Amino acid sequence: MNFTETLQNLTGKPLADCTDQELYLALLELVRQKSADRVQPVTGRKLYYISAEFLIGKLLSNNLINLGLYKEARDALAAAGKRLSDIEEVEPEPSLGNGGLGRLAACFLDSLATLGLPGDGVGLRYHFGLFHQSFEDGVQNEKPDPWLTAHSWAEKTDVTYPVELAGKEYTARLYKLAVTGYEGRTNTLNLFDLDTIDESIVHDGIAFDKTAIDKNLTLFLYPDDSDEAGRYLRVYQQYLMVSAGAQLILAECAARGCCYHDLADYAAIQINDTHPSMVIPELIRLLGEKGIEFEEAVEIVTKTCAYTNHTILAEALEKWPRAYLDAVVPQLMPIIEKLDKLARTRTKDESLAIIDKDDRVHMAHMDIHFTHSTNGVATLHTEILKNSELHGFYELYPEKFNNKTNGITFRRWLLECDPRLTAELEQRIGSGFRKDAAELEKLLAFADDETVLNELTAVKKANKEALADWLLRTQNVKVNTEAMFDIQSKRLHEYKRQQLNLLYLIHQYHEIKAGHLPAVPLVSVFGAKAAPAYTIAKDIIHALLTLSKVIAADPEVSKWLQVVFIENYNVTAAEKLIPACDLSEQISLASKEASGTGNMKFMLNGALTLGTMDGANVEISQQVGDENIYIFGQTSNQVIHRYAAGDYCAAQWYEGDANIRRAIDFLTGAEMLATGHAENLTRLHDELIHKDWFQTLPDFNAYVVRKGQALSDYACDPRGWRRKCLVNIAKAGMFSSDRTIAEYDRDIWHLGQ
Ligand code: PLP
Repeated sequence: MNFTETLQNLTGKPLADCTDQELYLALLELVRQKSADRVQPVTGRKLYYISAEFLIGKLLSNNLINLGLYKEARDALAAAGKRLSDIEEVEPEPSLGNGGLGRLAACFLDSLATLGLPGDGVGLRYHFGLFHQSFEDGVQNEKPDPWLTAHSWAEKTDVTYPVELAGKEYTARLYKLAVTGYEGRTNTLNLFDLDTIDESIVHDGIAFDKTAIDKNLTLFLYPDDSDEAGRYLRVYQQYLMVSAGAQLILAECAARGCCYHDLADYAAIQINDTHPSMVIPELIRLLGEKGIEFEEAVEIVTKTCAYTNHTILAEALEKWPRAYLDAVVPQLMPIIEKLDKLARTRTKDESLAIIDKDDRVHMAHMDIHFTHSTNGVATLHTEILKNSELHGFYELYPEKFNNKTNGITFRRWLLECDPRLTAELEQRIGSGFRKDAAELEKLLAFADDETVLNELTAVKKANKEALADWLLRTQNVKVNTEAMFDIQSKRLHEYKRQQLNLLYLIHQYHEIKAGHLPAVPLVSVFGAKAAPAYTIAKDIIHALLTLSKVIAADPEVSKWLQVVFIENYNVTAAEKLIPACDLSEQISLASKEASGTGNMKFMLNGALTLGTMDGANVEISQQVGDENIYIFGQTSNQVIHRYAAGDYCAAQWYEGDANIRRAIDFLTGAEMLATGHAENLTRLHDELIHKDWFQTLPDFNAYVVRKGQALSDYACDPRGWRRKCLVNIAKAGMFSSDRTIAEYDRDIWHLGQ
């Protein structure tokens, strides 16, 4: 049976007569059947990757690519007068993640299945995921983002586990989502939920009764934690995930013949950041129920579990007040206390304790003491962990520390999102890079080939046109495709420094007004959600939206400069933005971005990086060489020393530099106040002068100069620019998540053995 016939069997009528919805459901069913054919038995050790987030994105096209059915599907539909891209639009995007950490988890699942490794995900089936963002009157508005329909990828099972929360028993139900690798095996993403969740309790945007646990527990990823009920809810969510997950792991291992004493021969558990840390005491508790003594259980769990650290930002290293755990998981507290005592026999250093003198439970500390591996996610990040942030732990357990530089799956972030570039690469270097990313280096042989460079320029132009169409269609914004496309898309956070880009744009506004025209028109695109309770992040969004309007209303400036803030940045939007980007903004304060993975995606799609020596930017710059990247700003050592000295004074920079003063004061000047809100703009103005915790001002001038250099290279030396882009694509191989996963397996998991 050919592809058309197979699909027709599922729709029950000629494809030409089907609606896009009917075709979508038929393709979903087909993918399910084909994925099921690739399920393989598990032998030896199997990975369980536990994570609060799996930012999987839409699944149809990705699954078709991985099953080798994409072209057949596209052609069969085209023959019936249908477009696969229209059918993709029927699929709602599951927003089960917030940013890099969640998208990393999704890339890892793809690579595990592609490499033929047994490795499943464990997480929660949030009903709305992260909120849906829209802008009203220049302000972020939050609404639920539904993705669960009658025909979802995540299939309900009969498997349930009891989970005790605050002394009351709840029933966690397992949903399974098939993860098929590229020419690989099918693994599972296990997502837990309660049958009693009630979506109708959400009102006024994303508000809901935070105490009605049976109705609200899995409504949202990261429910607002600005009040105590919200913080409690996060503990409830975390325990639901790890308790149901631990029971699933033990049941699966037992079914394969494990007698629990030998759990580490059957399971490797990766704790993705601190949200799943309670899996450690929970496993010890469950092993205790199976008759295993505390000391042995600790040993088993330590051998089975490993921990990934994703940040050095203190606020993100969870420390739960003991009272919260006493209330929600009283069954774990005696175990956590014993773990704390045991840890104290290994070190006298109070700062390494699990329970501190203020009765807060440090989740990361529990992870490091009671897992066998702690890894950072880029070389610089791991060095900072070893030398400063976790130095005491490194001295205690040097053998546990290792680095695993993050990666991205090339199936989604090249083959799927950039078919034009993929076709061009295949024509030049064959298709080996689909599975062996190192083969991209073959492209270097064409670095001075005029034809190839022109074709890369044509690919980028076509991608920019496609983005322009999408922006017009979905956001009602018209952009100049002759301009340079400069993109900063990532979560909104002061350490990522969208405010530095904001100050640059204001600076350019003044320069253009003064007749100092840039080398090329610039379209500056932002995509970012701010956490609902993060006031200054929302003020930065407001300032950018207001600036965008001020510029658009000024014909003199808008010829040269355009600011576009897209709504609801998610995986679908990223797949449109990244292939069209010329200049990728990776401008975090050095030392603060653990790795970044957006930087890798832009590079792979032929954008040049404008960035600080932070996270994986350092490794990108090593790969491509200084001449193929635009680096600026303080180094991480300089930043760390400045923090240690405690003498950073933003006001001094403001008073001592006329350009900085002009840019900051514009925020509360007549033009901005006429369009925006005084409260938001004044708060941001004052924050920048009096706090500027992420040291925007010391990097301002270096940023302006380096960005000016990039604009002039782009405008005055287009051939040289395209050559740099080619080198970036060719050198992106190291950032494949296949490489990352192979390293985790080699050093930590030893799967299938
Ligand atoms: N959001 C989405 C949709 C992404 O694909 C990524 C990056 O990979 C991120 C957020 C994180 O971006 P960054 O690594 O720049 O913080």
